[in-house]
Amino acid sequence: MGRHGVRWRHVVPGVEVPPAGAARAGHRAAAGAARDRAAASAARTQPAPPEQTAEPYPLRPEISQDTAFFWAGLAAGELRIQHCPGCGALRHPPGPFCPRCQHAEPDYRVAAGQGEIYSYVVHHHPPVPGKRAPFVVAVVALPEGVRMIGNVLADPGDVRIGAPVEVVFERVDADLVLPSWRLR
Ligand code: ZN
Repeated sequence: MGRHGVRWRHVVPGVEVPPAGAARAGHRAAAGAARDRAAASAARTQPAPPEQTAEPYPLRPEISQDTAFFWAGLAAGELRIQHCPGCGALRHPPGPFCPRCQHAEPDYRVAAGQGEIYSYVVHHHPPVPGKRAPFVVAVVALPEGVRMIGNVLADPGDVRIGAPVEVVFERVDADLVLPSWRLR
């Protein structure tokens, strides 16, 4: 997995294949519980457009032991940053060990949900399943000191480096909430 692999994958075609069988059913159950917890924050969670609710979003993130807390947080309306109990460092993307002190039992902190655009691209081609081009993919710098990748839900012509943004918990289907951003 690359440095930004966790967040990048949902916009890269061909890397995600939904698992079949029991593992996927288990994931569904976990996501369902998370959705229940998310009810209170439903006002901040963007409902899926009608055309995206009928079928599962075609690109799935690879959810691992190290990243499960992040995806569960999105379903619950929280943008979570991995935190090291040993030295206090925040880091993203999540990993199994702290690179500063080698602590191996990370927890997390909830981000304020704001940031500014550090860098971005406007994707025109090739076609990406589940996405309508052109769309914006940005590296967002958070005030907590980490950077995250996500789609910016805005007209590409309105996006600028340094533009202030806030997180959008973008529900793309029954099981998946993506960390996207909008201009503020
Ligand atoms: Zn540490």
